[in-house]
Parts: sequence; C-alpha cells; structure tokens
Amino acid sequence: MTTERIEHYINGHKTKGVADRYQDVTNPATGQVTGRVALATQSDVDSAVAAAQEAFPSWADTPPIRRARVMFKFLELLNAHKDELAAAITREHGKVFTDAQGEVARGIDIVEFACGIPQLLKGDYTEQVSTGIDNWTTRQPLGVVAGITPFNFPVMVPMWMFPVAIAAGNSFVLKPSPLDPSASLMIADLLKRAGLPDGVFNVVQGDKDSVEALIDHPDVKALSFVGSTPIANLIYERGARNGKRIQALGGAKNHMVVMPDANLDKAVDALIGAAYGSAGERCMAISVAVLVGDVADKIVPQLAQRARDLKVKNGLELDAEMGPIVTAQAHQRINGYIEKGVAEGADMIVDGRDFDSSTTGEGCADGFWMGGTLFDNVTPEMTIYREEIFGPVLACVRVPDVATAVQLINDHEFGNGVSCFTESGSVAREFGRRIQVGMVGINVPIPVPMAWHGFGGWKRSMFGDTHAYGEEGVRFYTKQKSIMQRWSDSIDAGAEFAMPTAK
Ligand code: NAD
Repeated sequence: MTTERIEHYINGHKTKGVADRYQDVTNPATGQVTGRVALATQSDVDSAVAAAQEAFPSWADTPPIRRARVMFKFLELLNAHKDELAAAITREHGKVFTDAQGEVARGIDIVEFACGIPQLLKGDYTEQVSTGIDNWTTRQPLGVVAGITPFNFPVMVPMWMFPVAIAAGNSFVLKPSPLDPSASLMIADLLKRAGLPDGVFNVVQGDKDSVEALIDHPDVKALSFVGSTPIANLIYERGARNGKRIQALGGAKNHMVVMPDANLDKAVDALIGAAYGSAGERCMAISVAVLVGDVADKIVPQLAQRARDLKVKNGLELDAEMGPIVTAQAHQRINGYIEKGVAEGADMIVDGRDFDSSTTGEGCADGFWMGGTLFDNVTPEMTIYREEIFGPVLACVRVPDVATAVQLINDHEFGNGVSCFTESGSVAREFGRRIQVGMVGINVPIPVPMAWHGFGGWKRSMFGDTHAYGEEGVRFYTKQKSIMQRWSDSIDAGAEFAMPTAK
C-alpha cells in the first residue's frame, strides 16, 4: 500500500509545507489510506499569495491572444490526460469512472470557453461622445484571486474558476478539498507544461486554517467558493468585510416535478440517474421527486425496483452505476438522516442501509457502501425534506397540482437546480417563469448550464452577484475601466467650472 505525500504547488514547484500537518486521504471503495495531504499554515498561504503577486504584473501585461495560446496548449494536454485525471477522481472520491470522465469533460468545456478570451475582453468604444472626445471601456484583471473547492468535483469545480481567471490575466491560488487533492497537482503540472509562467497558478492544500488565511489576506482581491451553505455564507460575510469580491456557491435541495402528462418512463430514468448518480453527492442531484396527481401510484413501484437493481460497486469497474460514499463520516451522516426519515413518519420503500456489500468488488469489504434509499409520502416539515442529505436518498412528495408543486419549491430555503417533466408547453413555460430557482430543466433532470451560460443558484444556494464561468465569470474576474480621451488639436474650451456636457 502506498501512502503518497500530497503537497502544495507554489511558484511552479511542488512544495512541502513549513509545518508537519497532514491528513489521511482514503480510497472510499476500499477504505484504505492511499495518501497524506499537507495542511497549509498561514506561512504557506503567504508564500503562495506572494508567488502569485509576483507573477501577476507580467502575466496581466501578456497580450490576451498569447494567454489564450497557453490555454489552447493546456486544452490539448488535458485531452491527452483526461482519463488519468478521471481515474484519480474515482480513486479518491469514489464516483464511477464514466461519471468522472464526464466531470473532466465538463471542465474541459470551460477551458475551451476561456480560449476565446481575446473576444471576451473586447471593450466598447464610442467615437465623439463630445466634439473631439472619445470614450471607451476596458476590462482589466484584479490581481491575485483564490478558489476554494468542494470534494465532489475535484476537477470540474476548480475549472469553473481558474481557466477564466487566468485567461483574463489574473494569478490564481487554489485551495482544493483535502478529501481528494491529487487532481489539483496533476492540473498544476499540465498548466506548467502548457507554458504557464511559474506563480500564475498555485495550490495550497488544507483545511479551515488555509481558507481563513486566504479570506483575510490583503493581496487576495477576489475569492470564489463552492461548498456547503454554512461555509459559503461565512465566506461571503467575512470576505465582504475585508473588501473582497466574493462569489460563494452553497448547498442544494433540488426538486423534480413529474406532471401526469409526462413521459413516465423517461421521468423514471431521469429520477434514478439524477438521484443516485455519484451517490447523490452532486449539488445538482435530484433529492426530491414532486409527484403530481396520480403519478406517485404509477411510478413509485418502478422507482423502487430500479433503486434495488442499482449496480453499486467499485467505480473503476466499468459497469458500475454508483460508487461508495466519500468518507465514513459522510456515510454515518446519511444513515442518521435515513433514521430521522423513518422516525418522522416517512414511508420507507427501499432502505439503502440493507445493501449487501459483498458484490462491490475485490478488496472493497472495508469501503463506505450503501445502496439507494427511497422514501414516499415525505412532507415539507420533515428533516429529510428540509435539509441537504448529500447522499443516495430520494424523497417522494405527493402534491395535487402544479401550483402546489411550484409553491412548495419556492418556499424551500435552497434554489440551486430544479426540473419539470411534462409534455405541455404552457405548463413548462409557466413553470420556467414562476419558479424561484437559478437553474431550470424542462424534461432535463440535471440542467448544468454549458460553459458559456454560467452556473449559479438562487436563495441560500448562492451568495454574491455573478455566477460561475461564462460571461458572468469574466465579469467577476475583471474590473471595468472607462477611459475618456481628447487631444490638444481638438477644441479647447479653457477652464470649465460647470459639469461637463456634450458639446
Ligand atoms: P464543505 O463546505 O465542507 O467544503 C468546501 C470547502 O470549504 C473545502 O475546500 C473545505 O476544505 C473548506 N471548508 C470546510 N469547512 C470549512 C470552514 N469551517 N471554514 C472554512 N473553510 C472550510 O463542502 P464539501 O463537503 O466539500 O462539498 C459538498 C457541499 O458542496 C454540498 O453542500 C454541495 O451542495 C456543495 N456544492 C455546491 C455546488 C454549487 O455549485 N452550488 C457545487 C458543488 C458542491
């Protein structure tokens, strides 16, 4: 068994931290410790920010087309190494390999978008705003920016941030989740091989201490966070107090409404994939099925059969549909929610705790396994309805009509993603207009927007104004400057004491 040391990456090199603080990294499929990840101290964060600060002026001065060429080279390398990245994700996160490949592909989409940075940074120009005077706007990078990312997408979520930030001329410090840190170093290596100057991309591994050091660091100008709502809220408040630009994406409780006129076979497929894919550890997982009219009587038996038939096994086996839970603690938390669901009176249809783990694969006896759980007759006051479980648990709520469904969803504290399955254009249109949720799918269970559209929830699923990636991402990582210009051969009005107006 290897226990590799997973260190920081500062100024173009893997760097051992100054303090001897490490945390175990575990393969959730086997339960075995596979590595020890460094936990940064204030002084490690200072070194990373100093390297980024040093690299910033010349990178910001590099013409956007040349920055884009580094991104193009990075894209080529990513495509050549995408399966290695996916395998690293599966080993440390547990999600099945095909899903990890999908995660890498969705990250690559953003790199492709960032390759268009010369076009994205083009400003506006008005000739002759007054006689002899022109006015234009330009967008300039902020400086050192930081990204703090969750365990559930160790490649894709960092790629929501750094490709756009770096292409726009910033330097970047990434603080990945300590649960699956290896991919961050593979990315750093590919960026260096793509020709990115040392110091433009840095990684500090760590926990709460490194996050606090980044939020309080005076040279960090903006911070992107993705993770749970309590931490997102905290980071938004503390970052704003420190005068930083913050986007903090939080947790979710995503509903999928199934109307009586929907194609029910497709709706069942969608619910099974979106509830149990990645063991429900996706911020866009569907954790609540809102079944309208008589839909529940028709589909709950099918959902139950499909939940029982899930192929739950080591994600490196290519026919696996669901892998293990990320850690023993998360496994325990999810079990606690299931117990609460039963205690509060929901109908247990399939109990994932009964799962027989002998079929999960060789060497997997000590992995963090559970099957898919299905509850019916869940009501809005139950804990399993209100709170994010972040595990393979689907709660069915029965409602009489679409208006009740919309009200239910709008009343929930989270507003990340939502979906409605219907064959009616007018129901779909009204649903899309009235729902208080940031990302909406019509007959699409997980509506993760494409690279050029931007990603973000509403309500307590996101704190901040600009969504991740897309043009919103470009705006977040740049500040607008307006330049107004006159030359001495144009009119000279002498000293003017009144507010200047167009002449
Ligand atoms: P988490 O909040 O525990 O951790 C996220 C990051 O914050 C990690 O880097 C972690 O090291 C750091 N962190 C943890 N505790 C901290 C503290 N007290 N102070 C400062 N930093 C701290 O989240 P997680 O368990 O890694 O990820 C799962 C959560 O992320 C879920 O709630 C999920 O919905 C959410 N998520 C949201 C989105 C989105 O786009 N809205 C996307 C992915 C995941």
